[in-house]
Amino acid sequence: MSRYTGPSCRLCRREGTKLYLKGDRCYSDKCALNKRNFAPGQHGKSRKKTTEYGMQLREKQKVRRFYGLTESQMRMYFDKADKMKGITGENLLRLLELRLDNVVYRMGFASSRAEARQLVTHGHFLLNGRKADIPSLITNVGDTIEVKEKSKSSDKFKALMENRAGNTVPWVDVDVEKMRGTIVTQPSREDIDLPVEEHLIVELYSK
Ligand code: SF4
Repeated sequence: MSRYTGPSCRLCRREGTKLYLKGDRCYSDKCALNKRNFAPGQHGKSRKKTTEYGMQLREKQKVRRFYGLTESQMRMYFDKADKMKGITGENLLRLLELRLDNVVYRMGFASSRAEARQLVTHGHFLLNGRKADIPSLITNVGDTIEVKEKSKSSDKFKALMENRAGNTVPWVDVDVEKMRGTIVTQPSREDIDLPVEEHLIVELYSK
């Protein structure tokens, strides 16, 4: 299944929660959810989540859209999380948080996950000193991500570093001057700012 390319705000409205897909706009009054907090479409205002399956599906879609994944990627991460020790739902969210594009976003080197994915693909980052241009790469505690020397002087990264205040998370340590960040610990469930009931995703995929 291909990646969604339609209007981002429509996805937030469908899920009824902020998915932070549009960078700075998501933190401003211009956020579409402030004006139209109901599902898109003709029957958007009257739609109600009723069935158990419907609730499970919505939670899965919320996560998939938050991290910008295709259905097959989502399934693959679930299978991986299911084989790990611990709580499957939390393992799943932790795995997704540790994707390289998400870490770049969490370190404030991009204003959204979509932008992070594009910057990674374009080869602007080094992972432990080596070029890393695969957004889905899973990082580890102790890994260092740095903006490539040549990219540091670009207007793009200068502007990103000036506006990065809202993106910080406790599990990364960022040296703004050097445009370098290190993962200091595993992200905990509390660090993940997505209101999702991940156990419903586990139930959905375990059928
Ligand atoms: Fe649009 Fe961002 Fe608001 Fe979502 S959170 S509705 S993407 S502005």
